[in-house]
Amino acid sequence: MSIKSLIILGAGESGVGAAVLAKKQGYQVFVSDQGEIAENFQSTLQKYQIEFESKKHEKVFNYSPELVIKSPGIPDKAEAVKYFAKKSIPIISEIEFAGRYTNSKMICITGSNGKTTTTLLTYHLLKSAGLNVGIAGNIGNSLALQVAEEPHDYYVVELSSFQLDGMFDFRADIAILLNITPDHLDRYDYKFENYIASKFRISQNQNSKNSFVINKDDEVINKFCSVKEFGAKTYFLSNIGNASAVGSEKNLEFIFDDKRMTISTDFLTIQGLHNRYNALAAGTAAILVGLTQKQIELGFSTFKNAEHRLEKVAIINGVQYINDSKATNVDSVWYALESMKTPVIWIVGGVDKGNDYSVLMNFVDKKVKGIICLGKDNSKLQGEFGAKGKLFFSTDDLAKAISKAKEWGSEGDTVLLSPACASFDLFKNYIDRGNQFKSIVNQVANL
Ligand code: ADP
Repeated sequence: MSIKSLIILGAGESGVGAAVLAKKQGYQVFVSDQGEIAENFQSTLQKYQIEFESKKHEKVFNYSPELVIKSPGIPDKAEAVKYFAKKSIPIISEIEFAGRYTNSKMICITGSNGKTTTTLLTYHLLKSAGLNVGIAGNIGNSLALQVAEEPHDYYVVELSSFQLDGMFDFRADIAILLNITPDHLDRYDYKFENYIASKFRISQNQNSKNSFVINKDDEVINKFCSVKEFGAKTYFLSNIGNASAVGSEKNLEFIFDDKRMTISTDFLTIQGLHNRYNALAAGTAAILVGLTQKQIELGFSTFKNAEHRLEKVAIINGVQYINDSKATNVDSVWYALESMKTPVIWIVGGVDKGNDYSVLMNFVDKKVKGIICLGKDNSKLQGEFGAKGKLFFSTDDLAKAISKAKEWGSEGDTVLLSPACASFDLFKNYIDRGNQFKSIVNQVANL
C-alpha cells in the first residue's frame, strides 16, 4: 500500500497541529516555513518525528504530495502556494483537514468584528454547563491538535475569512455570522463581494439538521440573504425586533422552535450594543445545544472577556480608563463610543487602513470632549477632527497621551483608548499597545 503524503505550509499553531494529526493518520508529512519556526513548535515536530525546514521553502519543491495544508496567514500569491496550485494539488486549511477526522459537533463563528468575544462567550456557556467542549480556530488553539490528542464532544471554532477560504467539505452544525464590514480587501482583489462570499462559506454544506444564526440588522448580510437560500434552518438575531432572538437594553428574548426564554441584560458582564449581538448569538447557540435558562444565566454572569476589548483598567480621580486596543477599525470604535455613558477623552490613531471617519462624527460631537491622536503620522486625524472645537492633542508618545488625558479628565469622565487603526507604527501589535497602556495607567494610578 502506498503511503499518502502531505505538505504543510506554515508551522504555527495550526500547521503544527495539522502535522501531528496527519502523522497519526498515517501520512508522510513534511512541514515548511519561510519564517523561523518557534522552538516549542520545532520540539513538537521532533517529538512526532516529523520532517521540517525552517526559514526557507526549498526541499518542499521536491515533493509531489496528495494534499497541501496552508496556514491562513499565507496568501494565495505566495510562491509555494502558486507552485502546488499549478500542479492542481488540493490546498486546504487546517480546520478542513481536522473536520475529516471527527464527528464532534461544530459551532463555528465568523464576522468582521466580535468573533473572539462570541467564541469565548459560547465556549464559556457550554463549559460552565458541564459539557465536554474545546475552543479552536483563529483564537489560537489548533482544532487538529485537539482532534488528535484530546477529543471533545463539542468545539467552538472562531473562523476568519482566510480560514474559510481553505474550507470545502467542512460542515458546521451551528454556524454564526455576526456582521460584515469591509476588511482585508487586499486579499480579495479589492472586491468587497469576494470578501462577503468568503464569510458566507461558513454555511456551505449545511443541511436541514443544521442551524445558521444570522445577524439580521447587518445591512450587508441582509441584502445577501434576500437573494440566497440556505440548506440549514435559519435563526435571525436583531436588536430592533421581529427575529428569533431580540435584544433590548433590558432583556435578551429568545423565541424559537419550542423554546421561549427572557434573560435580563443584568446577567451580562460585557456592555454595549455590539455585545448584545454577541450575547444573542452565543445564547442562541447555547439554546440550540440544549442549555437551560439557569445554565445560560450562570454562564453570562461569570464570563470574563479577553483583554484589550473595552477592558476596564483603573479609576483615577473618578475617571475611568478603558483599554480597547483591539478596536483596529472604525466599526469597532463606533460600538465603543455607542456604549459610552459619560463624556469621553478619546485616544485614537496608528496606521490608518483607509478609514472613513464620517460615521463617527455624531458620537464625537455628542460624547467626546477631548481627542488625543497617538501615531507617527496624525495628519489625517488632524484634518478630520482638528477643527471640531474639542480639546485636541497630537503625539507619538503613549505616556504623553495618558498624561494629557489625566490633565483633561474630571470626575465622571472616561478615557478610552479605541484607536480605529493598526498599531505597528509605534507598537509590536495591538496586544503590546494595550499592555503598555494598562501598565502606564496603573503606574499613574499608584502614584
Ligand atoms: P474579532 O475577533 O472579530 O476581531 P473581538 O471580539 O476581538 O472581534 O473584538 C474586536 C473589536 O471589535 C473590539 O474593539 C470589540 O469591542 C469590537 N466588537 C466586539 N464585538 C463586536 C460586534 N458584534 N460588532 C462590532 N464590533 C464589535
